[in-house]
Amino acid sequence: MPPFVTESVILRVMDFQERDLLVTFYGDQKGKLTGIAKGAKASRRRFGANLDLMAHVRIHGFERPGSSLVRLEGADLLEHFESVRADLTGFARACYVAEWAEACAPEGEPVKGLLPLLLWTLRSLGKTGAREAVLRLFELRALDLAGYGLKLDACVSCGALLEQELSIRIGISQGGALCRNCQGAEGFSISRGTLRLLQEARSLPLERLHRVAFSSLALKESKGLLRAFFVYHAGRTLRSTEFLESMGK
Ligand SMILES: [Zn+2]
Repeated sequence: MPPFVTESVILRVMDFQERDLLVTFYGDQKGKLTGIAKGAKASRRRFGANLDLMAHVRIHGFERPGSSLVRLEGADLLEHFESVRADLTGFARACYVAEWAEACAPEGEPVKGLLPLLLWTLRSLGKTGAREAVLRLFELRALDLAGYGLKLDACVSCGALLEQELSIRIGISQGGALCRNCQGAEGFSISRGTLRLLQEARSLPLERLHRVAFSSLALKESKGLLRAFFVYHAGRTLRSTEFLESMGK
C-alpha cells in the first residue's frame, strides 16, 4: 500500500459504519480523494477536530490497491477556520464552497491553483467585510480553473468584438458573450460594468483579488450568471445553494 502525504482541505465528512468516517478532501498532490478514517467516529483521539469541514490539514494516508477509497492514517491541522463556521450563515457558506469545489475537481487529478483558491476563499470569509463578493470571486475563479471559463472578451460564436452596448448577452450553453448577430432569446444579460469587473477579477493574482469592488448590481448579476453556468456544466443544482439562500444570502 503506497503511502502519501498531501496538503488538503476537507470537503465532506460522512459517517461510515459504526466507528469510521468517510472523508472527501482536495489535496495538492493527489487532487480530490475520498478516504476511510478508521475509528474516527468512535474516538476523536487520533484525528480530533482535524477532519472538520473545510479544515486545512496535511493528510497522511495509504492508497489501497484495487479500491478508489484511500485510508487515512493521520491529519496534521494547519488552519481550522473556526471563525468561518462560527454561525449558521458562515457554516452555510462553507458548505457551499466545499460542494462547489467538490463538483469542480475531478477524482484523483490535481487542478492547478485550486488549493490556493480554496485557502484564499476561507481566509477571506473568516474576515469581516464583503463576503458575498468573496463567494462570487471564488465561483468565477473555480470555473476558470476547472476549464469552464466564460469567454467574455469577444463573441463566443463568431469572434466579433462586442459593441459598446450597455447590456451584454451571455449564452450559457455557448459559454460566453454573444454579439448582436449571434444572440437569440436564451441567455443572461449583464451590464457592461459587470462584464468588465468579471474580466478584471479573473486576471488578478490572488493576493490582489480583494481589491475588486462589486456594486450591488454586479453582485446580483454575477451571482445569477455564474450559478446558471455552473448548473449547466455540473448538470445539477447544489444542495447547499438552497441552504445558503434560506439564510438570505
Ligand atoms: Zn457573434
